[in-house]
Amino acid sequence: MTESKVKAEQPKGQETVLKGIPASPGIAIGPAFLFMKHAPIIEERSILPEEKERETVRLEQAIVRSHKELRKILEFARQKLGDDKVKIFEAQLMFLEDAVLFDAIYGRIRSELKNAEFVVHDEIGKYHRIMLAAKDEYTHERAHDVEDVRNRLLRNLLEQRAISRLEGSAIVVSQNLTAGDTVILSRNEVLGYATDIGGITSHTALLSRALKIPAIVGLKTISHMVQDDVQMVLDGYSGTIVLNPTEETIKKYEAKRERYREFEARLAPLRDLPAETLDHRHVELSANAEFEQELDFIKIQGADGIGLYRSEYLIVGREVFPTEDEQYAQYKLLAEAMYPKRVIIRTFDIGGDKLMVEPTKENNPFLGWRGIRVMLDRPNVFMEQLRAILRASTRKNIAVMFPMVSNLKEVRQAKKILDEAKHQLRKEGIPYDSRMKIGVMVEVPSAAVVAEDLAEEVDFLSIGTNDLIQYLLAVDRGNDVVSSLYQEFNPAVVRFLRRIIERGKRKGVWVGMCGEMAGDPLATILLLGLGLDEFSVVPKMLPEIKKIIRSVKYSEAQRITKRVLKMKTEDEIKEFLRTIMKKKFPDIPIN
Ligand code: PEP
Ligand code: MG
Repeated sequence: MTESKVKAEQPKGQETVLKGIPASPGIAIGPAFLFMKHAPIIEERSILPEEKERETVRLEQAIVRSHKELRKILEFARQKLGDDKVKIFEAQLMFLEDAVLFDAIYGRIRSELKNAEFVVHDEIGKYHRIMLAAKDEYTHERAHDVEDVRNRLLRNLLEQRAISRLEGSAIVVSQNLTAGDTVILSRNEVLGYATDIGGITSHTALLSRALKIPAIVGLKTISHMVQDDVQMVLDGYSGTIVLNPTEETIKKYEAKRERYREFEARLAPLRDLPAETLDHRHVELSANAEFEQELDFIKIQGADGIGLYRSEYLIVGREVFPTEDEQYAQYKLLAEAMYPKRVIIRTFDIGGDKLMVEPTKENNPFLGWRGIRVMLDRPNVFMEQLRAILRASTRKNIAVMFPMVSNLKEVRQAKKILDEAKHQLRKEGIPYDSRMKIGVMVEVPSAAVVAEDLAEEVDFLSIGTNDLIQYLLAVDRGNDVVSSLYQEFNPAVVRFLRRIIERGKRKGVWVGMCGEMAGDPLATILLLGLGLDEFSVVPKMLPEIKKIIRSVKYSEAQRITKRVLKMKTEDEIKEFLRTIMKKKFPDIPIN
């Protein structure tokens, strides 16, 4: 996909504009790379007895090629995520080495006299169908892994080109991308990601932001509209895709990209300045983190600390929970890297759309066994995690936070296990921070309603708007069919936020926010005016949010917020805030 080749092959299509959900900021201009994940079309062919040998050799060669490809991916993943997170690829390799399975396939080629593609498709398809029929998320994940291996094998049999590699730079277009695809493809020169499905808070979207790759999700049909090498513009600020852009359009977006680059460069000097309003209200501006690889960037961006470490990312690609010692090593690394700044470690938030170590059968996982519920039902696992966190807390810059809390009892139970962990460590003579701060995420409406009671039990509250909005408005955060109803600025959300912040502060604890809304520039003045004490945002957004905070007066933000609280529709609120932003910060991209 060299530049001259792109030009030579580019179809002369009409300029077409598509709108999706902006998932990761930035502008990409370049050729498309179709990352196709649907199975190749397989013909059933009869072969002659004398062709058996040839068919067997073809299959052997395809296995060798697939093995090679998978090894390469494994290496990419290892570099990006570390040794302990490559289990999924190791499992795929093992599948490819499964003697029973391949004996059956070779046997059928010989006895049924059918072509290798057909038998591979049919035989592995049996496994795949059984796994897909299972309702639990874990088996579903494995089914996709098996499907992946089958497609790889078939592609190699058909001698089609590999899909995990890109030559040159390109915008990856796909029906969907798993977290694994997102990471692995990023080993190439990926300019951007564009997918048919997915929502703003899907973990794929979160991951592309962590990787600093512009992305748009929820484009519905883009994977059917685009062919390889079609030129496209991806504007991750506004969620706009332009296919076959004219020279004029390209120039327009290049200028926009340049403007934002300059703007970002101008923001760099803000790095070491405090997040403080013109009338000296100081707030904490921290970063959300999933991987240790992000730490450098987080520090360069001038974060006051880590306001949310999603510890469940330690489980990616694993089938068992990491041991206490493994966890300790990771938490210690975070604490050391950020010292003296604070790191808030959220205990495993598994279930819902997130990975699960234990298979579950739930019809409605988002309302099911998630977050603190899982941990309280697995006190041994919880105990190991809490011990690891405590052991890493000796420099006194770690806090712990519990996700998906829906009532006071859960907080008390969690604290009891934490006390037991402290007791054990004391007895064993292992040091820890006896005053380690404890927080609760407010992301379930019932927790918001009793925020004042929760506040009495802990040191801080952190609002998780990603979930809070989905539960308050009954809109699935990852479902693009209802994504227009997922409204950060819905008056019900705004008034609910006011309630949580007020009630929490009345009880003397600080109230922060680690949901995506905290990193939305359109929300900054409003959240400031509501009295939010801490903003924990995706690292890329730190300078912009700081710039806004440093350019307004708290008193002014309070006046603006007062007006917003009287408004009755999301449109009205957004329009009002947009007008303010355009006037005050014409350079800051807003949605
Ligand atoms: C949230 O729900 O707002 C949150 C920060 O948690 P997560 O996105 O990891 O569910
Ligand atoms: Mg959440």
